[in-house]
Amino acid sequence: MKHKTGTDKSITSKWSRKTQLVRGGSFRSDMGEMSEALFLTSAFAVEEAEEAEGRFDGSREGFVYSRQENPTVKMFENRMALLEGADVGRATATGMAAMHAAIFCQVKSGDHVLASKALFGSNRWFMDELLPRFGVETTVVDGPNLDEWKAGIQDNTTVFFAESMANPTLDMVDIQALADLAHNVGARLVIDNVFSTPVLLNPLDFGADVVAYSTTKHVDGQGRCMGGIVLCSQAFDEEFLYPFFRHTGSAISPFNAWVHLKALETLDMRIHAMCDNAEKVAAALAERLEDVRYPSLPSYAQYDLAKKQMKRGGNMVTLSIPGGKDQAFKFMNALEIFDITNNLGDSRSIATHNWTTTHKALPEETRRELGVNTGMIRMSIGLEDGDDLVKDLMHALDQAGI
Ligand SMILES: *Cc1c(COP(=O)(O)O)cnc(C)c1O
Repeated sequence: MKHKTGTDKSITSKWSRKTQLVRGGSFRSDMGEMSEALFLTSAFAVEEAEEAEGRFDGSREGFVYSRQENPTVKMFENRMALLEGADVGRATATGMAAMHAAIFCQVKSGDHVLASKALFGSNRWFMDELLPRFGVETTVVDGPNLDEWKAGIQDNTTVFFAESMANPTLDMVDIQALADLAHNVGARLVIDNVFSTPVLLNPLDFGADVVAYSTTKHVDGQGRCMGGIVLCSQAFDEEFLYPFFRHTGSAISPFNAWVHLKALETLDMRIHAMCDNAEKVAAALAERLEDVRYPSLPSYAQYDLAKKQMKRGGNMVTLSIPGGKDQAFKFMNALEIFDITNNLGDSRSIATHNWTTTHKALPEETRRELGVNTGMIRMSIGLEDGDDLVKDLMHALDQAGI
């Protein structure tokens, strides 16, 4: 049964992460295809009505309908679950569909969600606008400040939510400490782990209950397909995630899952090459600018926590240009290699002015409160030559008169 080795846990659990990323979760059809097949089909036909009945009542194994499960998607989910150390993964159409499912599947009117204030704009919108509409109370606190989390707990707190490293401020939360706090009051910890990547940090190892990703970012890694995934235990999936996921229809396209599945084969090497470049870039920028944030810089606010929690610093570097928006725009416009766009985790380096783009939907005072300033630029470091990137940045700083 060689073609089933990718799904046999007694075999895959002996593999290191690198091997799991190349081979884990795969299965072959009778055609014996070497590369995973793309099952671009909505439904699955059976020979007899009894078989359909059995698949619907769960007494027989087999695929039914791609809103629920699809073989290509399943291989992607299997591989991500192995990488994360989770029982189950459910892949979604976008990262926001994953965050939505991870939080909404488990809350009801009257509950309270406690979240860090420094969040990706859409995550913050969930807290400030969407959850309260359905009678779910929300409070935001300063992510790195454990006392604020403690003080924010209410009798009805059921979910803690944070980005392991916040977009774009790079504020880091202590996952172990938050998980302990949450579990003490019977709540669950949900982590958006996009910035840290599953190669450098696995929140379940530190006690988190649910991990969610935008796979549009580093997992795809070449800016092609949107996607997301929620990873959790079997028990959480059965009670909360799967019913919600199946009936609300956030499933990823099998095509996108196939692209992401193939991209996982190179994820480990891409992330490490990006880290090499980001370390160079951060060090060079720190010589010219006061506010440069990167987890392995000694000036990083949570340097010790980063060392404990992350294998390396990742590919995101955030800086503040002292002259605010005008000078930030001059700097960005002078870049010759970096693209100006809002994606991240791409093989191509990217510069984003968060004040006027990703966080623009939030009121100005919320942007300030969560730590975004008008000169802030978020850089996603790619796979180009690191020395070329440093030269490009230094030249642009010169051009902007910094
Ligand atoms: C991009 C991003 C998301 C949303 O993902 P999409 O795939 O764009 O929907 C969520 N959280 C973080 C931290 C992100 O960077």
